[in-house]
Amino acid sequence: DTQVDNRKLAAALRLAAEAAGASVSEYRAVSTISSRAGRVDGLTLADGAKVSADVVVLAAGAWSRSIAGLGPELLPPVRPVKGQMLALRMDPAAPLLTHVVWAPAAYLVPRRDGRLLVGATVEEKGYDTSLTAGGMLTLLEAAWRTVPAIEELPIDEMWVGHRPGSRDDAPILGAGPIDGLIYATGHYRNGILLTPITADAIARLVLDGASEAAIRPFGIERFGSLPAAAE
Ligand SMILES: Cc1cc2nc3c(=O)[nH]c(=O)nc-3n(C[C@H](O)[C@H](O)[C@H](O)COP(=O)(O)OP(=O)(O)OC[C@H]3O[C@@H](n4cnc5c(N)ncnc54)[C@H](O)[C@@H]3O)c2cc1C
Repeated sequence: DTQVDNRKLAAALRLAAEAAGASVSEYRAVSTISSRAGRVDGLTLADGAKVSADVVVLAAGAWSRSIAGLGPELLPPVRPVKGQMLALRMDPAAPLLTHVVWAPAAYLVPRRDGRLLVGATVEEKGYDTSLTAGGMLTLLEAAWRTVPAIEELPIDEMWVGHRPGSRDDAPILGAGPIDGLIYATGHYRNGILLTPITADAIARLVLDGASEAAIRPFGIERFGSLPAAAE
């Protein structure tokens, strides 16, 4: 199995985007997606600033329903699915593992810097951010049963994240029912894996208005209560 370091991927994507002329605006929450005469026309940020836009891509992960301005029928059916993970520290010069191991109730991912990731719980706990004894116990026991030598490794980090899970656990991709609104959310457990295909398809949709065959089955209209998205 191959792997990518998601933190380095995000940093690399930022550099690549800026080199291609994108401007990245961090830590400025979007409070509202605005629309006029039946089409999206921009955003209002939490600090009150307004940004006009012909196209808005709703890609706020597990928080994709928390942005105001869209009617309830336009909100993607996405919920947070809590995941706890931890990292152990191996000796990078003599790592305990050099390849990914899938255990029955956990996976172990050795990074080149010596970190050994153990993941992940899947919990329907809303936006709860607590690290729990039970979560860590489950992961460590599953990892230890498969690779007992992890017992000696120091714990480097423990953390919680929220996956964007859709109603059928598949991504929600493509044009929305009102002009200018595009969805790229609901990637659940595979958002890193699906980054290239999602980015390519959504970029084509924004730039050319073309909906690639690969994403057509993942339109929001599959959930039924919405009019079909424009081709
Ligand atoms: C423990 C765990 C392990 C995982 N392991 C894997 C794995 O091995 N492989 C894999 O492919 N995937 C994995 N995933 C899933 C993957 O992390 C997600 O599918 C992916 O991050 C979804 O990407 P996203 O950009 O849609 O959402 P996110 O990565 O959640 O990004 C959404 C962004 O939107 C921002 N945002 C939210 N609201 C607003 C707002 N109002 N204004 C502005 N910005 C806002 C958030 O701050 C966040 O930065 C894992 C997830 C977890 C929790």
